[in-house]
Amino acid sequence: MAGQRVRTRFAPSPTGYLHVGGLRTALYNYLFAKKMNGDFVIRIEDTDQSRKVEDAEKNLISTLEWSGIIADESPVHGGNYGPYVQSQRLSIYRDYCIRLLEEKNAYYCFSTSEELEENRQLQIKQGLQPKYNRKWLPEDMGGNVPESEIKKKLDEGVPYVVRMKVPDYVSVWFEDLIRGPIEFDSATIDDQVLMKSDGFPTYHFASVIDDHLMEFTHIIRGEEWLPSMPKHLLLYEFFGWEPPKFAHLPLLLNPDRSKLSKRQGDVAVEDYIRKGFSSEAIINFIALLGWNQGEGSEQEVFSMDELISKFSLERVGKAGAVFNIEKLNWLEKQYIKIRPVEKIIAVIKPLLIRELETKTSQLPLSRITSDEYLGKVIDLMRERVNYEHEFVTFSSYFFFEPETFEAEAVEKRWTPETPALLKEFAVLLEAGDDFTAEGIEALLKEFVAPKGLKPAVLIHPLRIVTSGVSFGPSLYHMLEVLGKEAVLRRIQHGITVIAASVV
Ligand code: GLU
Repeated sequence: MAGQRVRTRFAPSPTGYLHVGGLRTALYNYLFAKKMNGDFVIRIEDTDQSRKVEDAEKNLISTLEWSGIIADESPVHGGNYGPYVQSQRLSIYRDYCIRLLEEKNAYYCFSTSEELEENRQLQIKQGLQPKYNRKWLPEDMGGNVPESEIKKKLDEGVPYVVRMKVPDYVSVWFEDLIRGPIEFDSATIDDQVLMKSDGFPTYHFASVIDDHLMEFTHIIRGEEWLPSMPKHLLLYEFFGWEPPKFAHLPLLLNPDRSKLSKRQGDVAVEDYIRKGFSSEAIINFIALLGWNQGEGSEQEVFSMDELISKFSLERVGKAGAVFNIEKLNWLEKQYIKIRPVEKIIAVIKPLLIRELETKTSQLPLSRITSDEYLGKVIDLMRERVNYEHEFVTFSSYFFFEPETFEAEAVEKRWTPETPALLKEFAVLLEAGDDFTAEGIEALLKEFVAPKGLKPAVLIHPLRIVTSGVSFGPSLYHMLEVLGKEAVLRRIQHGITVIAASVV
């Protein structure tokens, strides 16, 4: 393997959606391959036809691409090692199965599922680990069944599976790149089914064959596959193939340290996309679930390029990684703070245009959809939003006149004198020729001082009538962005609506 081009793969089963754990596996495989200037491949493992979901394969690949993980080879991109979908490789598995049967490393098994279940229950009762009882192991492989009986069953067309014959006493050993040396005793290994009665291979059989034929150098996957290692290693041995290197990633945990489950939160990447998380934050967050840069490093925000250059399997831990949604929220905010204005505009403009199809704005459409206006809204709001879509939803008053006014704020900040003060100030605003944040601030202070009032008596009501809410960015900057005409209209409108409601 020395000097060989690094090749890794993500091998999902198309069961409907991309699990966050799957995204982590894909990402680590991708980062490792790219760091080593190698190839990252997507192979679809659809040998369990009962679990197959239409279009799942396309969704998986497009979700990965959305997050910036682009395969060098896949069912969509093609490549020299295809087909990349296991159900299109059945004749390959059949040929290798025949070879194992001929070489006496596998045998036909005609046991029915009822027999298997009975045997299982019996072994459990006896306190044994359930294993196939080798009822159909042929005489020439150390069992009791004569060759003629097997032939007869085959001729009669009795359904069968093919099982691997696990050697009786052998220890199977390998060195995991994350966990170090791991040894298994063959006495604990079952005679695994390789070919199912429907003619499809099992995951174990197909994935070993494909991993070899597709020349993968490193298999990086979840810890749940660790118990399958002895079966896989025996298959490599039967075929006389050199196994690739293996790295088993730590489990993903809920904050209470139980295994990450749907019950405690979303596990589909699509759910996070729908909520409005960006690919940068999701990738950054997922990268840190098991990997860290090392002692002494405080860095938490990593771009994909940085991750590629810094990633290493040596720095992936063995301990379960806690899926802490607070961290994802925090990362999203960090990205919104630093994201170039044009990128945000490209995302929010279509959202705004969609909103404008159903809601009327009193502001000129050409102004509020202009890059200049959106840029100003973004500057004012980027510290305050949690997701990009909130530039439109949470900041809707920049685009739509408020229809309601926060009741609590009105109760707290609205006095019988407020309407008159606002009206008087509106006259000054209208006459003024400096509608900048500084100009408005100066005017407001000059207005309240001679009356012996604090600016707050106007600041809060002004915010309520112009935005409908009691919180937001700097009031003066917000008014400047809204523009004189809109502000004057909103003062009038707010006074009328609130007066009607407080009476
Ligand atoms: N198809 C397996 C899965 O769904 C792949 C396991 C492996 O990477 O070997 O996770």
